[in-house]
Amino acid sequence: MSLYHGSLYWPTTISDKPVYPKLNKDLACDVLIIGAGMSGALLSYKLAKEPLDVILVDKDRVGNGSSAANTGLLQYSNDKMLHSFAESIGEKEAVRFYRLCFNGMEELKRIAASLPEDIQFKNRPSLYYASNEADVLSIKKEYEMLKKHDFPVEFLEEEMLYKSYGVKKPAAIRTGGDAEVNPQKLVISLVKEASQSSNIHVFEKTEVTKLHYQDGYWLFKSEEALIRAKHVVYATGYELDNFTMEMATELNRTYAMVTNRISSFQKWEDRCLIWETKRPYFYMRTTFDGRIVAGGLDEETMEAPRDPRILQAYADKLLTRIKEHFPQFQLKADYSYGATFGESKDGMPFIGEHPTSKNLYYCLGFGGNGTVYSAFGSTILKELILRGEHPDADLVRLDR
Ligand SMILES: Cc1cc2nc3c(=O)[nH]c(=O)nc-3n(C[C@H](O)[C@H](O)[C@H](O)COP(=O)(O)OP(=O)(O)OC[C@H]3O[C@@H](n4cnc5c(N)ncnc54)[C@H](O)[C@@H]3O)c2cc1C
Repeated sequence: MSLYHGSLYWPTTISDKPVYPKLNKDLACDVLIIGAGMSGALLSYKLAKEPLDVILVDKDRVGNGSSAANTGLLQYSNDKMLHSFAESIGEKEAVRFYRLCFNGMEELKRIAASLPEDIQFKNRPSLYYASNEADVLSIKKEYEMLKKHDFPVEFLEEEMLYKSYGVKKPAAIRTGGDAEVNPQKLVISLVKEASQSSNIHVFEKTEVTKLHYQDGYWLFKSEEALIRAKHVVYATGYELDNFTMEMATELNRTYAMVTNRISSFQKWEDRCLIWETKRPYFYMRTTFDGRIVAGGLDEETMEAPRDPRILQAYADKLLTRIKEHFPQFQLKADYSYGATFGESKDGMPFIGEHPTSKNLYYCLGFGGNGTVYSAFGSTILKELILRGEHPDADLVRLDR
């Protein structure tokens, strides 16, 4: 299955992608990470500072999986609001989960600041508006609960919303602490940094499959070699195996488009990230070089259509949505694509150790906040590998 079809924007922004070799000899390591997308890249970056010998493999090139289709909105708020989580898992656990996301955001900011390359990371507030009158109550509830637990949030009445953003909607909340990034640059840069450490070995064009567990090691094979690993992390994104196929997840498809460059974002205060309460939701952000990235129109089918005419029709729908907000901009779709998109049924990612196979872990950042999930997920996995525990591992464990 191909994870996306159409024309992606981020690859056009990358000019100097490092090339890593294909694995062609047998190796042993402490940790084998399978998949060099956002999850595998963040984990290898964090493990580069630890006394562990790490192998990172990808069957394709680094950052070419669904992380290349990621639209790069980084938010502590989730698709499922805090007050909805409170109804399903209790307020204390819901706040613990939101705090984990908030801390994941903070961690991404620190990482972005420490990387030598410009990954087009910029702090931005998010505007989350009520798509209709019926959703105002839920926006108000969300505001009250976020505020009660000290998350950065403001409430905007209709008039203020129109004055600041030109958005004709009944109410909104504005959350602070969020950001935008070029996700593919982030992945490539993390792996490049990690690979500078002598304990990290990166191999591209190296697909691996599991053989068995023997004498304290997991044995994996690639086309040309065997890998013996004490710990193995599946950071394979939406490509499911027999175990993950049984999890409470669903694979859908979503659409995104990137416009031409425009010279000014007049009436788009702070160039904030914009999204809405309607489901499936529409969202948009701006880029460093003056474009608008918009996405949404999710459908319950796994693979995106291949036909460029169909993709163009979805791009046109997204363009219409942008123009509802910003009729003054002269816009056309320069890039448009459809992509597979994974979500979990309870709104939280699946991250942790396999319930019966020792030292085998998964980092599945399923959901609209995949990058933030990968950020705190890689910390949880690092701690599980090094110390066998993390205080929040129970929240996102695989067998919940
Ligand atoms: C259109 C779209 C928009 C999105 N927008 C956002 C957003 O705005 N913000 C956000 O936070 N998240 C967003 N996401 C979600 C985000 O993209 C994902 O959460 C993220 O890409 C997952 O990263 P990953 O590393 O888990 O998977 P991937 O990036 O898919 O990486 C997995 C890697 O594993 C490799 N692999 C798989 N099997 C094997 C094997 N057997 N051997 C070797 N290698 C293997 C693949 O080649 C791939 O490179 C979006 C997703 C889509 C599709």
